[in-house]
Amino acid sequence: MPADLLAHARAAKGFMPEDEGAFLHAIALEHLADGPGLEVGTYCGKSAIYLGAAARAVDGIVFTLDHHRGSEENQAGWEHHDETLVDAELGRMDTLPVFRRTLALAGLEDEVVAVVGRSTTVAAHWRSPLSLLFVDGGHAEVHAQNDYTGFARWLMPGGALVIHDVFERPEDGGQAPFHVWQRAVASGAFEPAGTVGSMRVLSRSSGTAGEHVG
Ligand code: SAH
Ligand code: MG
Repeated sequence: MPADLLAHARAAKGFMPEDEGAFLHAIALEHLADGPGLEVGTYCGKSAIYLGAAARAVDGIVFTLDHHRGSEENQAGWEHHDETLVDAELGRMDTLPVFRRTLALAGLEDEVVAVVGRSTTVAAHWRSPLSLLFVDGGHAEVHAQNDYTGFARWLMPGGALVIHDVFERPEDGGQAPFHVWQRAVASGAFEPAGTVGSMRVLSRSSGTAGEHVG
């Protein structure tokens, strides 16, 4: 990671420990030359900087998808709420302006493309094979499962499925990302390919991009 981009990643608001961000960057460096990457769960762009830095290095592109209204756990009264991210007039969260500033300051607007909308809506119209899919959107079971159902199929053979916040033990964190990891392994279409902290990588080992995976 170039020092200037690492400094931007460190300064950005978000939920990406530096060792896991460095791992994400390394995985992205290996894959983004093969086709576009997709991040589900932009928030304020912290992880997008790690991905965008890799995209720049290999002349790749990363799409990053979010409705920018926050997950359940980001809403007022919940653990991960940040009141500076609330649009006072609407009374709703809006992380899009902060994300755009973060990306512009990092100089990564040509490498990272924002897709603003619900994951299920975008997935219904998505047609592009992916070199990398980073699942870090809503951590409720229904959202995490929908992200996998909607987008994992678009990975090309050899493509990387990266899942964040995977905790095997309930006392360490929510179980939905772990369930998605288990589903990916059980499908037979993905092989485990590495772990750092709560970030797990799988490699698509069978099928073709667009074909349903279990
Ligand atoms: N990757 C970010 C953190 C993402 S937090 C980082 O490392 O900093 C999860 C994000 O997922 C939130 O911004 C929330 O708005 C988004 N999200 C949750 N459910 C979603 C859905 N169904 N469709 C689109 N975005 C969703
Ligand atoms: Mg996360």
